[in-house]
Amino acid sequence: MSDQCIFCKIANGMIPSATLYEDEEFRVILDLNPAARGHALILPKEHAANIYELSEHAASEVFVLAKKMAAKMTDALHCDGFNILQNNGEVAGQTVFHFHMHLIPRYESDQVSIGWKPGETTQEELNDLVKLIRGE
Ligand code: 5GP
Ligand code: ZN
Repeated sequence: MSDQCIFCKIANGMIPSATLYEDEEFRVILDLNPAARGHALILPKEHAANIYELSEHAASEVFVLAKKMAAKMTDALHCDGFNILQNNGEVAGQTVFHFHMHLIPRYESDQVSIGWKPGETTQEELNDLVKLIRGE
């Protein structure tokens, strides 16, 4: 746990939070500046700045928990859809450098915008990227 990290303190109960769920490894809290009603965050109790630092064990558990929370929150909130997202690095929108997963209930009339302008590519670029990423 990092002394400097606010999410370490929240996850480990040193700073109070609106907690929806807690177990030995995770705490799920309501976001203080919600994108939509019920916006929540899954915080691992063990510090990892981002997905690159996250242990494989935590990575394997976090989406199972996200699935359970999505079902429970959808039942309770009667939302019409659900976004799950996770930012890594400032350029990707990360502002708190302790891994967290956003659980964002969506409502037909909400004003949430999560998106990008679809780009263009070529078959050649796709082939090059496949080779590059596969390491061939
Ligand atoms: P990021 O931009 O890093 O993916 O998301 C950080 C999220 O944490 C934001 O949605 C922000 O509103 C939320 N947040 C930042 N500080 C606090 C805090 O002290 N308590 C809670 N509950 N949420 C926080
Ligand atoms: Zn931390």
